[in-house]
Amino acid sequence: MQSVEQDPAANYLVFNQVKKTYDQKTLVVKDFSLTVAKGEFITLLGPSGSGKSTVLMMLAGFESVTSGDISVDGVSITRTAPYHRNIGMVFQSYALFPHMTIAENLAYPLQIRKKSKAEIKDRVKEYLALIEMQDFGGRYPGQLSGGQRQRVALARALIFEPSLVLMDEPLGALDKKLREQMQYEITRLHETIGFTVIYVTHDQTEALSMSDRIAVFNAGVVQQCATPAELYERPANAFVADFIGENN
Ligand code: ADP
Ligand code: MG
Repeated sequence: MQSVEQDPAANYLVFNQVKKTYDQKTLVVKDFSLTVAKGEFITLLGPSGSGKSTVLMMLAGFESVTSGDISVDGVSITRTAPYHRNIGMVFQSYALFPHMTIAENLAYPLQIRKKSKAEIKDRVKEYLALIEMQDFGGRYPGQLSGGQRQRVALARALIFEPSLVLMDEPLGALDKKLREQMQYEITRLHETIGFTVIYVTHDQTEALSMSDRIAVFNAGVVQQCATPAELYERPANAFVADFIGENN
């Protein structure tokens, strides 16, 4: 039997003792180590200010890593430029280009990657269908509801087929009903396409319903990383028990 350490798919994304300070005094990420398997849906769950977005920004390459290492597929990306990481991203306020139609917004990530016109046309059609918005290609973002815009933002993050997708509180601006609909949508696309997800939220219910594993994060430290059932049944400490048990 192959050990976990030797299986590249089990060690797809590895954070090794990652630390981050913005001001050279306070560590906002203290010692972040996490191993993510290919295709896994991992959620970073923690209160506001605990360092979740900072971890995503370091992974995306928009913030430097103060010390430690991040690798994808066995290759360190700690010093790789953001563009070359080929990571898809969805944020709460990830704005679509307002002057471009929905189809043009979806085509954009493919155009900058120099895909052929024929491929772009096919891919845009396919992804409009995936989010069940076949008839909206010619509309502008201003003509859509918040939920529809978020579905387009999701499709735009996935359309160039990144193997790693980061989502930072992507549903935070939506009302409860839309949020539940989008949770289902994201889960469905994850199951259909099979990319690896690092999802950030402070919402326990959302984390519990969507994730393969949840890393409970507080004050820059992973408190426990486990499946939703394990976290619920065997919280590692009082913080995890309180945070998972909270209902909000
Ligand atoms: P979360 O996403 O969990 O709410 P963040 O990663 O945004 O947490 O923030 C963690 C800590 O780092 C907070 O104390 C925040 O004020 C600080 N911080 C975040 N971004 C910056 C920045 N660009 N410069 C200085 N401090 C920052
Ligand atoms: Mg944040």
